[in-house]
Amino acid sequence: MFEITVEGSFSSAHQLREYRGSCENLHGHNWRIEVSLGSNKLDSLGMVLDFRSLKGEVEAIVDRLDHKFLNEVPPFDVINPTAENISKYMYEQISGGIDTPGVKVLKVKVWESEKAAATYYE
Ligand SMILES: [Zn+2]
Repeated sequence: MFEITVEGSFSSAHQLREYRGSCENLHGHNWRIEVSLGSNKLDSLGMVLDFRSLKGEVEAIVDRLDHKFLNEVPPFDVINPTAENISKYMYEQISGGIDTPGVKVLKVKVWESEKAAATYYE
């Protein structure tokens, strides 16, 4: 199995609903994300997927969240914009954009701070 990883980042505000603590108040994070793809075989160039293609996918999704108030961006207008929910959202969005046979999103890790991250994988 081969695995490739790209990083992305965005800045946004959020507010955790029904959370008893300071994260219930409006505040922001510089989120950092790591997206990993896997494949059992390589293409004719010797790649899982061109890093540029994957970066393009990641940036398209990051653009929807960058400099936004996440609680107003679907699906976070309904579900809490936690690092966990953001990682699952990104996993699903990026999976939908990868149509190379045999290539699969393995995991998405979302860092909310330098020391705290959530990962989603299936
Ligand atoms: Zn927060």
